[in-house]
Amino acid sequence: MTNREEIERRRTFAIISHPDAGKTTLTEKLLLYGGAINQAGSVKGKQSAKHAVSDWMDIEKQRGISVTSSVLQFNYAGKCVNILDTPGHQDFSEDTYRTLMAADSAVMVIDAAKGVEAQTIKLFKVCTLRHIPIFTFINKMDREARDPFELMENIEEILGIKTYPMNWPIGCGKEFKGVFDRNTRKVLAFSSDGRANGVKKVNETEAELGDAALDELLTPYLHQQLVDEIELLDGAAEEFDLDKVLRGELSPVFFGSALTNFGVEPFLENFLRLTPTPLARVDSLTGEPVDPCRDEFSAFIFKIQANMNKAHRDRIAFMRICSGKFERGMEAYHVQEGKNIKLATGTQLMAQDRAIVDEAYAGDIIGLFDPGIFSIGDTLCTGKKKVEFAGIPTFSPEHFARIEQKDTMKRKQFVKGMEQIAQEGAIQIFREVGGGMEEVVVGVVGVLQLEVLEYRLNTEYNVEIRMQQLPFEQLRWVKNDPDTYNLRDLDLTSDTKAVEDMKGNRLLLFTSDWAIRWAETHNDTLELSEFGNI
Ligand code: GDP
Repeated sequence: MTNREEIERRRTFAIISHPDAGKTTLTEKLLLYGGAINQAGSVKGKQSAKHAVSDWMDIEKQRGISVTSSVLQFNYAGKCVNILDTPGHQDFSEDTYRTLMAADSAVMVIDAAKGVEAQTIKLFKVCTLRHIPIFTFINKMDREARDPFELMENIEEILGIKTYPMNWPIGCGKEFKGVFDRNTRKVLAFSSDGRANGVKKVNETEAELGDAALDELLTPYLHQQLVDEIELLDGAAEEFDLDKVLRGELSPVFFGSALTNFGVEPFLENFLRLTPTPLARVDSLTGEPVDPCRDEFSAFIFKIQANMNKAHRDRIAFMRICSGKFERGMEAYHVQEGKNIKLATGTQLMAQDRAIVDEAYAGDIIGLFDPGIFSIGDTLCTGKKKVEFAGIPTFSPEHFARIEQKDTMKRKQFVKGMEQIAQEGAIQIFREVGGGMEEVVVGVVGVLQLEVLEYRLNTEYNVEIRMQQLPFEQLRWVKNDPDTYNLRDLDLTSDTKAVEDMKGNRLLLFTSDWAIRWAETHNDTLELSEFGNI
């Protein structure tokens, strides 16, 4: 296969959802259909197999959760599919957001009984920063579900994206019998031949709407209801428009049940048909997109994971390849350091194992051994003409703590530890405007990161700290010119605090949404941003 063929068969996406909507289950079912595993239940269950992918940090083992995220790759119908795992639950962190920077599209899993939930909203917002296509999988149709029309409305109203149902559910709960495919105009009826909970693939029967054969599969009532609903749908205004999907303005919606496998394959097939090949990233030096199929290699680092092997305090830097081909041992120019380096080891996380990668193509994600030279957002490239990709934004933390070291004699280790952990992007450090490092405020996206920080300072840097959680919940970067705009003149609620980050950017910490609105409404010219400078 030529490089171009290899690149054009790649599809790289992330699955986003609120905890418990079914992200893990859907991922596993995609692997089942992709042939990467033979039986569902064999991958990375939260209780079982937890050591399989990530037994790198003690804390992961203690908690039985994965602190860091990984990539799963499989082949399906000639396409090479990369699923970026976005950490959820307690291990939700800035990495979850950063992972989205490496994806070319997102699949949003929504619980059919609950509709759009809090974490989905946050992740969706980050996806919209890049205008990537967002596909919706409405899951758990095998349970009591909200009315499908209502669910569409819920998505449109809360997320502000238009929806287009690609298929339509027939019944829900025990009566969930199949879906109507709006493209082929056929009914796809599912049956699971009585085997428990979707361990194996389901049987699908195809039939025309109105076909008498359908009466065997559906009750006359369900059949009639479907005919009526399809008529309503076809009359609705929104048309399918692939360009809008690709710009992230229209979300194709699929109904199904990841647990029973109903609707998983129709989703996978249609999703892979519509989701884009590796997207061109813009070179910020020229403002031009970099063609993913060009010969020269380029990539950016979006995540750094510490201590894969505790004995060597090494790190793994995850890079997204943006153009060309990676070969193990190749040399590339590290733009931020201004020198050529050898890309020694490439690791890739396949379903359960870490494997050494000899070659990879634009669209792929691989982990590089990092002796401490990479930072998040760094670019690597080959070729005469250098490229540099825009960095990765800093996301607003949601948990804050004041941190002090217990033993002030260990100041050096403390500062080093804090700086290194911040460089990996696990924490953000803030201080009083003009203040020092004796006492700092740390902000994290996921609350577990605070525990990880304390644990790592202790075990890796031999520093004990005092940590006091602070009541702030949100942070906004102040975009106004620091030379002319004085934060002291602002009219703020008494519990709002002004701080600066390590780059000297000014920020405000808030205890509630209400306090943010207060700041916005009482200070006409104040410009706040949810995302930090790159
Ligand atoms: P995640 O937190 O989004 O990764 O969600 P999981 O995939 O871990 O699923 C959360 C719970 O919902 C688990 O108990 C699953 O077995 C269950 N679940 C997932 N998909 C379905 C589904 O389609 N139907 C039903 N009834 N339960 C499901």
